[in-house]
Amino acid sequence: MTHSDLSPVQVRVRALESALVAGGHVDPAALDALVETYETQVGPHLGARVVARAWVDEAYRARLLADATPAIAELGISGRQGEHMVAVENTAKVHNVVVCTLCSCYPWSVLGLPPVWYKSAPYRSRVVADPRGVLADFGVTLGDDVSVRVWDSTAEVRYLVLPLRPAGSDGWSEEELAAVVTRDSMIGVGTL
Ligand code: FE
Repeated sequence: MTHSDLSPVQVRVRALESALVAGGHVDPAALDALVETYETQVGPHLGARVVARAWVDEAYRARLLADATPAIAELGISGRQGEHMVAVENTAKVHNVVVCTLCSCYPWSVLGLPPVWYKSAPYRSRVVADPRGVLADFGVTLGDDVSVRVWDSTAEVRYLVLPLRPAGSDGWSEEELAAVVTRDSMIGVGTL
């Protein structure tokens, strides 16, 4: 990529990074390691393990809903942007959706880096004003008897949606269950 191919945001990021490195405030190797971790190791497969465990282990599910941070840590999952986690459970009568109306707060530790649309102004504003319309855009239609709860993430609290276990999945192994859990279902804008 030649310099002229950089987007305005990329130019700003490079300038900021250069200034921080030149000033001795950050170590480029540490930055590379951080980016590498979130690109290759941390992702929705971690959240899917949490969901699958909650589906097969009633005691774990109770711990997760009571206090998600230590319950998630039981599976060896912790880290940045996930220091205070709250799990919200979908039921036959309640569907949960997660947003950050102010910016882009997201549970990195269990879902990895956020999708671009999550950070977009239209999603952040519309999901509050018209959650069913946004869900329809994602292909999710809910019955009139299902209420929608929208959770606004902050720098302190990040939410993980516990989706409904798919019908017909009795007897599936935890690994088989984890494999069908999608990122969008854990944000609340997708079903399984
Ligand atoms: Fe935010």
